[in-house]
Amino acid sequence: MSDTGNGTSVVEFRAVSKTYPGGVPAVRDVTLRVRRGELVAIVGPSGSGKSSMLNLMGSLDRPSAGSVLVDGHDVAALTDREVSALRAGRIGFVFQQFHLAVGVPVLDAVADGLLYAGVPLRRRRSRAAAALARVGLGHRLHHLPHQLSGGERQRVAVARAVVGEPAVLLADEPTGNLDSASGAAVLALLRELNTAGTTVVVITHDREIAAALPRRIEMRDGRVVADTAAEPPIGALG
Ligand code: ADP
Ligand code: MG
Repeated sequence: MSDTGNGTSVVEFRAVSKTYPGGVPAVRDVTLRVRRGELVAIVGPSGSGKSSMLNLMGSLDRPSAGSVLVDGHDVAALTDREVSALRAGRIGFVFQQFHLAVGVPVLDAVADGLLYAGVPLRRRRSRAAAALARVGLGHRLHHLPHQLSGGERQRVAVARAVVGEPAVLLADEPTGNLDSASGAAVLALLRELNTAGTTVVVITHDREIAAALPRRIEMRDGRVVADTAAEPPIGALG
């Protein structure tokens, strides 16, 4: 897929709302852009619509109103098949639960992240090994999930999410099941990946974690009530 260059939106919301069947609106009239290279925290109380926003950003769900553009593609204009291809090729997900299959060695779990890309097995394995090295698990390639700590399992999940070099990494409470030291290590890893060029959007209810990130989008009752992107980015000041 062609690279659209710096400054372009990886994700764009235009007046997006999401109402689940029979429910109250979970996301209300949100307009925002996430640009290539950003590291964004989505913060807010439980039930404020954070996961709903991330699911819309990741094309796991479609809006009830408004448009969602992922990597320049209007999700509503795509067939289910095209949405699946977009998601597989351009989006990496990390969730609070690690979603690692029991009994599958971590090298294969990460290599499976490239199945949809049609990469041959040997190449999948070598790219998986490189991704695991990036997350500091180059010495754990043949371990099974149950032989790893929670923090290590989450780093495997991060490796699986980035092995295909997605346009954006979406993480929903990735530190939610971890002790604070392991959580800090996972956050440090997301920052490292961002420094190396990956666009990252991370949901967290940890104020300390959020405060350390360059942009914070704050949600209440489905609305964005604050977005620090309104401030000039640090790099633009000098
Ligand atoms: P957060 O991630 O900030 O806790 P969510 O996006 O999960 O918030 O939820 C926002 C609102 O939408 C809540 O009121 C929640 O109960 C509701 N909601 C979330 N997912 C669903 C769903 N699949 N069906 C119906 N209601 C949902
Ligand atoms: Mg949530």
